[in-house]
Amino acid sequence: MSKQILILPGDGIGPEIMAEAVKVLEVANSKFNLGFELSFDDLGGAAYDRYGVPLADETLERARAADAILLGAVGGPKWDTIDPALRPERGLLKIRSELGLFGNLRPAILYPQLAQASTLKPEVVSGLDILIVRELTGGIYFGKPRERTTLENGERMAFDTLPYSESEVRRIAKVGFDMAMVRNKKLCSVDKANVLASSQLWREVVEEVAKDYPEVELSHMYVDNAAMQLVRAPKQFDVMVTDNMFGDILSDQASMLTGSIGMLPSASLDVNNKGMYEPCHGSAPDIAGQGIANPLATILSVSMMLRYSFAQVAAADAIEQAVSQVLDQGLRTGDILSEGCRKVGTVE
Ligand code: ATP
Ligand code: MG
Repeated sequence: MSKQILILPGDGIGPEIMAEAVKVLEVANSKFNLGFELSFDDLGGAAYDRYGVPLADETLERARAADAILLGAVGGPKWDTIDPALRPERGLLKIRSELGLFGNLRPAILYPQLAQASTLKPEVVSGLDILIVRELTGGIYFGKPRERTTLENGERMAFDTLPYSESEVRRIAKVGFDMAMVRNKKLCSVDKANVLASSQLWREVVEEVAKDYPEVELSHMYVDNAAMQLVRAPKQFDVMVTDNMFGDILSDQASMLTGSIGMLPSASLDVNNKGMYEPCHGSAPDIAGQGIANPLATILSVSMMLRYSFAQVAAADAIEQAVSQVLDQGLRTGDILSEGCRKVGTVE
């Protein structure tokens, strides 16, 4: 039976990097007989321009019907001044929450060929292989009320809300433990339980889930310390599990350890491992349209899709090997360029 893959190139560098990833996906499709059927639609600013909303109902229906979704990136200055409720990023948040994609996997792997591109010393990062598991559909990015108001004295004020329910924490904790079980049985849960009520619940529930995973060595760390430890001694971590906002920040930070955010893929999974796959980076409007963006994060997202949604391990491995070979050949986009390498782009 054929599998439906919905491709959403998005905005900025999205279409450029997606074009490269689709080439890779098509080769894998025919070489490994995957039976994938690809279809295309818009999300974010591109959707706003075409449908008047950042996520059209018909696109959402297509996404629900698809077996997996591959996304470029959304957003850009072109849509900065539109109604905030219609901003490109709202489309992204909506598709994640509508599809229940609560489990965000963000590996930070240092390719040995890129040791020089890391901001840290080679001995601190060599062999780095961390997986950050980020909760993606709850917490402060979705919490209500969210409001801007004016105080009685005329001062402007604003507030956000950081809610987490027990079941939300439990299901993401399970993803963390499951990932730890297939890796090195080490999990670090990151929170701010010394200050936040939501984090105190988080820690409590993670401890409860831990009882089902006696083989996993669990530790807890406050997010400020985790940020520090990530640049001091990142190899102490294997799997990290954390909430939506902390995961957003820590995974961008971890990306620099690997040389460039242009190298990092991500998976966002629902309870059945149906997923949306996208690079960790944004739409990079500063370099869009120039053909110089690094497509490897998106190509590696294809690999994650094959691995996590379709259990096509051989095809996933083949893509990762191909990426490694390209790096071996000394071919580099500007973000990972170092001495002695040849600069390439997506337009050659
Ligand atoms: P978002 O909020 O969507 O995550 P952001 O503000 O974090 O966006 P990005 O779009 O990720 O920003 O870009 C951050 C920086 O990294 C920019 O200077 C951008 O040019 C660079 N960058 C991002 N992706 C790539 C890529 N694939 N190749 C090269 N450079 C990139
Ligand atoms: Mg970002």
